[in-house]
Amino acid sequence: MNANNRKVMIITGGGRGIGAATARLAAKDGYVVCINYLHNRVAADAVVDEICGEGGEAIAVQGDVALEKDVLTLFETVDRRFGRIDALVNNAGIVQRQSRVEDMDVERLNRMFATNITGSFLCAREAVRRMSTKNGGSGGAIVNVSSIASRLGAPSEYVDYAASKGAIDSMTIGLAKEVAAEGIRVNAVRPGVIDTEIHASGGEPGRVERVRHAVPMQRGGEAIEVARAILWLLSDQASYATGALLDVTGGR
Ligand code: NAP
Repeated sequence: MNANNRKVMIITGGGRGIGAATARLAAKDGYVVCINYLHNRVAADAVVDEICGEGGEAIAVQGDVALEKDVLTLFETVDRRFGRIDALVNNAGIVQRQSRVEDMDVERLNRMFATNITGSFLCAREAVRRMSTKNGGSGGAIVNVSSIASRLGAPSEYVDYAASKGAIDSMTIGLAKEVAAEGIRVNAVRPGVIDTEIHASGGEPGRVERVRHAVPMQRGGEAIEVARAILWLLSDQASYATGALLDVTGGR
């Protein structure tokens, strides 16, 4: 497989939900797409098959973003297969069972922060090492998938998750400034309540229906509506945007 002159994107957690919608849209926009996933190989392969069936180019790579060795393997696989990396979408993220802070054990907290924070840092680090003009790279763009929970706090649901996304907001601002003169833009999207399977993993599959009444637009968002914002931030159309936190929330 050869990327030729096509831009190459890594999307963590790209097999389902917002990541899968982003992968499909990126392929339509001409990107070669590397879809990272954790457990659900069937879902990731289905996205790859769909993209390849429509004439695009995609691969799926298993890996836990919280593990440095898996992140290194992910990026080395892309080095080997495509020889370049132009865009990173730090999308992999988890919630856990809805809970008050007083009931959160240390295993839960460590897993939350390792996946949502350390995972995003490790992937950003590997991307910057390759993209930075300081290191001989050609520049690139990173989009972090944060959450509006960083502003709302998610009380009695998952304050740990909200705090992890607060860290992502700060990382976006700091890293953007750090690499702005090295050809790399770093931005974040902050989705509101979006209709994906993440709510079931928090123990409430019907959460979108319950929460939508608190959304000014009175509905949950669709993954594709977040994907469009991500693709815009990665594109040259957003050439002067860096360190931005773009809320995609239906007005919340
Ligand atoms: P989702 O449907 O639950 O999908 C999550 C994806 O992340 C899956 O592909 C999963 O892989 C992958 N993943 C989980 N842990 C991973 C790990 N340690 N390493 C690598 N991949 C991992 O979630 P989503 O709703 O699309 O959420 C995507 C991002 O949007 C997350 O960062 C989330 O916090 C953020 N977000 C979502 C909402 C919302 O309402 N949906 C709102 C705000 C922000 P497998 O398929 O292999 O399990």
